[in-house]
Amino acid sequence: MRTAIATVSVPGTLREKLEAIAQAGFDGIEIFEQDFIADEGSPREVGALIRDHGLAISLFQPFRDFEGLPGPLRARAFDRAERKFDLMGELGAELMLVCSSVHPQALGGIDRAAEDFHELGERAARRGLRVGFEALAWGRHVNDHRDAWEIVRRADHPAVGLILDSFHTLARRIDPDTIRRIPGDRIFFVQLADAPRIEMDLLYLSRHFRNMPGEGDLPVAGFLRAVLAAGYAGPLSLEVFNDQFRGGSPRGIARDGYRALVALADDVRRAEPSLSLDLAPMPARQPVAGTAFVEFATRGAEAEALGALLGTLGFAPAGRHVAKRATLWQQGRARIVLNEEERDFAGSVFNLRGTSVCDIGLEVASAADTMARATALGAETFAQPLGPGQQEIPAIRGLGGSVLHFLDPGHAGVWSQEFGATPEGPEGAGILGIDHLAQTMTYDEMLSWSLFYTTLFPMAKAPMVDVIDPDGLVRSQALTAEGGAFRITLNGAETHRTLAGAFLAESFGAPVQHVALAARDIFATAEALAALGFEPLPIPANYYDDVASRFDIAPQMLERMRAAQILYDREEEGEFLQLYSRPFAGGMFFEIVERRGGYRGFGAPNAPFRIAAQKRLMRGKGIPRV
Ligand code: MG
Ligand code: MG
Repeated sequence: MRTAIATVSVPGTLREKLEAIAQAGFDGIEIFEQDFIADEGSPREVGALIRDHGLAISLFQPFRDFEGLPGPLRARAFDRAERKFDLMGELGAELMLVCSSVHPQALGGIDRAAEDFHELGERAARRGLRVGFEALAWGRHVNDHRDAWEIVRRADHPAVGLILDSFHTLARRIDPDTIRRIPGDRIFFVQLADAPRIEMDLLYLSRHFRNMPGEGDLPVAGFLRAVLAAGYAGPLSLEVFNDQFRGGSPRGIARDGYRALVALADDVRRAEPSLSLDLAPMPARQPVAGTAFVEFATRGAEAEALGALLGTLGFAPAGRHVAKRATLWQQGRARIVLNEEERDFAGSVFNLRGTSVCDIGLEVASAADTMARATALGAETFAQPLGPGQQEIPAIRGLGGSVLHFLDPGHAGVWSQEFGATPEGPEGAGILGIDHLAQTMTYDEMLSWSLFYTTLFPMAKAPMVDVIDPDGLVRSQALTAEGGAFRITLNGAETHRTLAGAFLAESFGAPVQHVALAARDIFATAEALAALGFEPLPIPANYYDDVASRFDIAPQMLERMRAAQILYDREEEGEFLQLYSRPFAGGMFFEIVERRGGYRGFGAPNAPFRIAAQKRLMRGKGIPRV
């Protein structure tokens, strides 16, 4: 499988783009003319620079407003094409993309366009070049790949072929299976992009909101299946225009592209095994059986304060690490490690961010298979020297400097071996395990994170919700693994004035902001915690008046909720009860939840009241309004 990406998809200067694209593992690029023009190198120098990065120039694009022009405009269009052919010769590009015309004077008619393309094919062939025709979804006369194919077919020239772009076909809801009937050798190039399903002018949607396959809502896998079934064997290339990506890091965006493309090809291969796709085998997405541990980097007085907070949450120390200054706190299946080591990874995280989550352990069926898939998708492995008595547990670097460890049944003995602990702690205050983790990042990074998790694990995305902070908007995207044993919410902060944004600004990364614990019976847990000295986040009386008006809740239960500061939500599938700790260490907090029935959400309607309550406490303590 040859891979490519349009230079326009990656931010930065042309040289930064090339560096990032080559590093991410792509075989080639579509050189977007703007990127070339902005560079100071001559066409020959740029061509050499691209090849020096080990990249092929798979496509030169775009050549606009060519077909259907009358009289002198037509002659001028051919002159323009000849000049671009000169340039392609110097760059070393062999295939040119011609997109369907939006010229106000362009005339319709399939035969007229076919004649134009036949002549263009003659001119291209004389120089050993080829041209491909792409139907833009907003083309003046040609906006459907079926019409573009008919023009290519009638042009009847070996140097003229079809270029397909998943966006143009899928955004217009054209059945991609119509591609299966096109001879594969007449398809010269295939561009892939996804996009959210929002009702919007297609040109605007395309120029600003395209995203990587798997990041949007379009059936890109079905499109690629049809392309391969047609017999297409050329490069698979990403062409993504996205406002968020333009401000991102070149390497991050290129890495995301590679991850998206490999995951898509793997999905296609699994869905239609008869298709030929030259892609190294990799394990399927690995089911997650739960969160094995959450590790905090912490030290000294902060470690003591965090330990005390865990004590009021019903956790008990289960053991000291054999080699490190780390303590395991357990309750049910919830495990929290407080790592005070100064020289290991946790030490460097503490030096950078202060007390924060530095590592997450996930329970998977096979750690080796999870690692194999993660590395095939371009993840970086993580390892640090093992101390005496330590087990080797495979790990990768997540995004934002985080680390993910994978534990499978083969690691069942790690808790007794490294901490002298039993596999499960006492239930203490009735906590069963970890319900979900909430990670905070900038809004621009959210797609990266959801792509990271959804390509590695079988996780479903819930629709994104807007959470109103008194000082701005936070977008929240929930991901739930098949079976619900692993849940994560991604919170994208648009401004540093929000609670999430302020936390992010202080923590230099995209770390875990809250850990939610699952209670067997939240009222019993609340009573147990009160006896342990736990101080819940105070919720105003107005909230309970509102909840009573929105839901039919028995007065006695409402009274217990009010007394214990418990929040409530209900969906068709069931009920959800939540209790929050007060914020600590710059805005982190714990949440305790009880899911009743099949409730699948995260209490998003309550988030604005929770955030306002947290901010009241933080401002009240003299923490300035950021
Ligand atoms: Mg395109
Ligand atoms: Mg939560």
